[in-house]
Amino acid sequence: MTTDNSHTGGSARAADSATSNGAAVDNARRPAKAAWHYTPSLPITPSPYFRWPVAPVALLRWLFKGWFPVSERLIILLFAIASATVFFPSGADTSQLSAGWILAVLLRNMALMLIVAGGLHLYFYVFRCQGDHKRYDARPLATGNRTFTFGAQVKDNMFWTLVSGVPVWTAYEVLMLWALANGYAPALSMPGDWMWLVVLIVLLPVWETTHFFLIHRIIHKAPFYKRIHALHHRNTNVGPWSGLSMHPIEHLVYLSTVLIHFVVPSNPLLIMFHLQYFALSAATTHTGYQGILWGERLILPLGTFHHQLHHRYFSCNYGGLEVPWDQWTGSFHDGTDESHRQFLKNRRRAT
Ligand SMILES: [Zn+2]
Ligand SMILES: [Zn+2]
Repeated sequence: MTTDNSHTGGSARAADSATSNGAAVDNARRPAKAAWHYTPSLPITPSPYFRWPVAPVALLRWLFKGWFPVSERLIILLFAIASATVFFPSGADTSQLSAGWILAVLLRNMALMLIVAGGLHLYFYVFRCQGDHKRYDARPLATGNRTFTFGAQVKDNMFWTLVSGVPVWTAYEVLMLWALANGYAPALSMPGDWMWLVVLIVLLPVWETTHFFLIHRIIHKAPFYKRIHALHHRNTNVGPWSGLSMHPIEHLVYLSTVLIHFVVPSNPLLIMFHLQYFALSAATTHTGYQGILWGERLILPLGTFHHQLHHRYFSCNYGGLEVPWDQWTGSFHDGTDESHRQFLKNRRRAT
């Protein structure tokens, strides 16, 4: 069984010939496993939520492991609780759009992204705390490559994340807090609705996989791919800053997920968790490593091999593992050599 248990997103030839380190990269025809420095135990498997007959033990186990004993989700939930209490300007009147609280939200989101993406980049790529241990693709992140803004992958990724990603995230947060305060979006009444709050928090990864799959399929089609999504796919190998490195229009579409709360009741904590989950887990799932180790023990699962396969092979694994959209629509690559042969056959048929 795999430990890869979260999500988490031109032509196949474009992906084959793309480079992330200036050297030619064409691993598509090699057996899947041999093309990687490290793979988790294969095949990677989607959640048991939709398995028939129902497998209650596997289902509860998946649900528990998705959160405990420690997970990116749990950490992001703690960030959201802190954001909604300690780091939110007390007494801020969010029914009025004023510069003071909007700036405070922007600075907090900037700080969160610097802590998560910056911290993971320092841990894995600057201080090399794990070397290449449990790293999927051992090629260095690109420098001296004109594909990237400023000619370097990390500078490019930081630029698009901080200059576009965080402001768009903030704009959605401000919009939803303002809408909630003015009654334009339905509110959970606390503490009475606390059970609904828990249910909606637990269901968020399921919604995330569905929303991500749908928008991701669309932006892989011409003409959206070339104009919009190709910017994210500059990264054939990934690091923490790659996750939210997207074209501004992709940021608008990717983070539009939170607009569901114009229909589904929410409160400020849920709005903050929803957006932080999408923005910050983009960084954690793109670390390029299976996770943080304590000795040989994986204590914090991070990078998803499912999405790493998408960055390498391009026309597979558009969604995540919570809902098996890729299995249902024939684009699932489970990392095994057999699955890879099928992937190549499908790709030949499509071109
Ligand atoms: Zn990605
Ligand atoms: Zn893609």
